[in-house]
Amino acid sequence: MVHRVTLIPGDGIGPEVTSAARLVGDATGVPFEWEVVDAGEKAIQATGSPLPDEVLRSIRKNRLALKGPITTPIGGGFRSVNVALRQQLDLFASVRPARAIAGEGTRFPETDLIVVREATEGLYSGVEHWVDREHSAAETVAIVTRKASDRVIRFAFELARREHRHRVTAVHKANIMKTTGGLFQTAFREIAPHYPDIEADERLIDNMCMQLAKKPEEYDVLVTTNLFGDILSDLCAGLAGGLGVAPGALYGDELAVFEPVHGSAPKYAGQDKADPVAEILCLELLLRHIGEKEAADRVFRAVWETIAEKKVVTYDLALPGYTMTPVPPSSCSAMAKEIARKVPLVDLSAPLPRPKGTGPALDAQLET
Ligand code: NAD
Repeated sequence: MVHRVTLIPGDGIGPEVTSAARLVGDATGVPFEWEVVDAGEKAIQATGSPLPDEVLRSIRKNRLALKGPITTPIGGGFRSVNVALRQQLDLFASVRPARAIAGEGTRFPETDLIVVREATEGLYSGVEHWVDREHSAAETVAIVTRKASDRVIRFAFELARREHRHRVTAVHKANIMKTTGGLFQTAFREIAPHYPDIEADERLIDNMCMQLAKKPEEYDVLVTTNLFGDILSDLCAGLAGGLGVAPGALYGDELAVFEPVHGSAPKYAGQDKADPVAEILCLELLLRHIGEKEAADRVFRAVWETIAEKKVVTYDLALPGYTMTPVPPSSCSAMAKEIARKVPLVDLSAPLPRPKGTGPALDAQLET
């Protein structure tokens, strides 16, 4: 069966990293038909709108999209295309796995977390205004509903069950934001007992950040509201090796859109320099979603082996400081080609290689 997928190249480094993912997707042998549509800067030039109806129609029809990052103007300009897409398609659960790959680019080689973020409301509801004409005061409203809280919390527990995870931690600030935080906390406390096989606990957002910076390996699945999830998932991406290796997925009841945690990194646009792994791992998540498990395992394995070998890696993984053996950085396209080349060759039954020489702290951790 051919899988029709909406492909949104996006802005900045988006076209480069989505081409990389497409190359790797085609190397799996899974038959894809890519329907390319533009959102963001290119769409504004062509249609005047950053999110043309054609994009929404294509995703609704195919029920599946692979998306590159899209630039959002800071302060003024149009509203975030990313936020609008999530709201208009009701993509309520943003799932962002943070897995340390081959111990590279991280001081925490055991990191294996999943952040589940409510993606349609909270402080990103788009309800904000200036309080006075002088623009000396402003207000942004956080909207938290029981319906959206219930469904994202249930989603997190179901995901934990499906992926054999043992613990779900709710993250909020119910001590200060007693209504919005309190509502999310109440929903979590009422839903958790329906999943007696999964440990459930809570952390305040500030304490959660400190705990993650100290001992991320103790946590498993985190579920939280929109803004906290946005921030926590970047923090977790940093723990696992950086934005260059952090994929994400957005799920609604019927649709799924796969996009990396990172943005359009304008300073690297058009330089063939960005790490393609985050977008390639989005493809891995897409393959799992459509039931192509072996192809997904091959993609993950090919990424892991490429990073572990450390011969063809982009600048973020080649850096000295993280590693004892800095290497000359490769281009985005060279790394993608290397991963694509490995996809049909990898041995799925062999143990994943864990390289040494990735720094004294890591070596010590790997030896104990
Ligand atoms: P960013 O993630 O684009 O970049 C931050 C830094 O992370 C970069 O300067 C670079 O050093 C590094 N980085 C990011 N992706 C990388 C990659 N693939 N390989 C190597 N290094 C990488 O964040 P920003 O600079 O805050 O945002 C730029 C634009 O992207 C903004 O307009 C923002 O609104 C938008 N954005 C979009 C999305 C999305 O489309 N979902 C997400 C986040 C930010």
